[in-house]
Amino acid sequence: MDFYGHVIDGEEVPSADGAEFDSIDPYRREPWARVALGSATDVDRAVRAARRAFDEGPWPRMGLAERGAVLHRLADLLERNAEEMGLSDTRDMGKPITQSRDNDVFRSAANLRFFADHARLSTAETLPMDSGHHAYTRFEPAGVVAAIAPWNYPLMLATWKVAPALAWGNTVVLKPAEDSPVSATKLARLALEAGMPPGVLNVVHGRGPDSAGQALTEHPGIDRITFTGASSTGRVIARAAAANLVPVSLELGGKGANVVFADADLANAVEWSIKAVYTNTGQVCLAGSRIYVQRPIYEEFLARFVAAAEAMVIGDPCDAATQIGPLASEQHYRKVRGYVETVESAGGKILTGGLGDGWTVRPTVVVDMPQTAPHCTEEIFGPLVVISPFDTEQEAVELANNTRYGLNAMVFTENLHRAHRVSARLRAGTVWVNCFFIRDLRAPFGGVGDSGVGREGGSFSREFFTEPKAVIIDV
Ligand code: NAD
Repeated sequence: MDFYGHVIDGEEVPSADGAEFDSIDPYRREPWARVALGSATDVDRAVRAARRAFDEGPWPRMGLAERGAVLHRLADLLERNAEEMGLSDTRDMGKPITQSRDNDVFRSAANLRFFADHARLSTAETLPMDSGHHAYTRFEPAGVVAAIAPWNYPLMLATWKVAPALAWGNTVVLKPAEDSPVSATKLARLALEAGMPPGVLNVVHGRGPDSAGQALTEHPGIDRITFTGASSTGRVIARAAAANLVPVSLELGGKGANVVFADADLANAVEWSIKAVYTNTGQVCLAGSRIYVQRPIYEEFLARFVAAAEAMVIGDPCDAATQIGPLASEQHYRKVRGYVETVESAGGKILTGGLGDGWTVRPTVVVDMPQTAPHCTEEIFGPLVVISPFDTEQEAVELANNTRYGLNAMVFTENLHRAHRVSARLRAGTVWVNCFFIRDLRAPFGGVGDSGVGREGGSFSREFFTEPKAVIIDV
């Protein structure tokens, strides 16, 4: 079994105390990699290395074009190693290979290229003042960034954080999720190969509480914390950030509502609704896990949706034909299984799906569920959708907004006025109309309520990862 160490100051190293853990392949349900298990000591080494690289190294002082060229080379290397990078995430957490290798790796490369170019092309206003002075803004790097990533899009979400932080001249300590550690070490290896100076991108592996995650967020040498993960963890991290007065960006859970009006293009609505809840085996923060369908088309929608769910190919995620793999870990499987097993006691009915082999849950469709049931209010993070009918536009908006989360929503309608009207009324960071998952990296990304604090993407990432400085000159 291969070993994956921390990457600190340009070297791949074991933990100071020699601790290690296994990464489990959730389809084969056996260890497939050994990984360094970090502690506060390893985190401290990494933060010190990142600080030295920030204070003394070339990275923050490099021209934007030169820094951008390194990030472009890293993007090229990711694409050249797509097979290996994709397989790492698939073995670590069971994501179908066609999603990791053919989608996530290329989207990761796009993150790096986009933020490299965005930083280079970004301009600040100069403000001629009535007094004759001129004020202008400098976007200076913030310092050492702590990036904490979840396991559902290991490489893609790591680069979503690391790319803007690096493009703006910061140095980084990345703590990947313990269930999906391997691609982070490989990313850091490739960064060195691309010419990134030592200490600029460091990786420390480990768990969250009482482990590397907690040590990193509480470290006094950190200038920014960018976190993606569960809302409950977000609360803990916000407290750690408050103690050191460190700006924090929290991208948290979701309970996306997907509203299908009777005038929708039904084939299009079914196709996107299936993708919205079963992509990555439902382990997507943006999952459209609640579908509300206007009554005249409710039965027809259900019939088509169930047929499409039953046609999905379940199996070995390393097989290119597989659309639904296992859940990412035994612990997560037990959580999702709990929701499947309580459908009937909560008042609902399973139309299709249920438990599969190993740690697999089949694409599951639930109806007749009271809106107050946990299945309608809590993030399940698995391939289970609750479909409910509605009558009026007002009712649809109320149902969709009836959640503590507010990451995203979807609207399917051919009525232009309704599309705009309903989009404006939905409490969510992103609304997709007649589509899903389409992203423009310039657009704000983030959530309302329990779905997060702050926005990233384009100039929103710039505001977070820099210290904008006003300079006022007497001309
Ligand atoms: P998690 O919160 O359990 O773990 C996320 C990361 O935080 C891991 O690296 C973990 O080790 C670390 N961590 C855990 N406790 C910590 C602590 N006390 N201090 C510091 N670090 C700690 O989340 P998860 O189960 O890995 O990921 C699933 C969650 O992520 C879901 O809720 C999902 O919706 C959310 N998510 C959100 C987005 C978004 O963009 N909004 C994207 C993907 C996933």
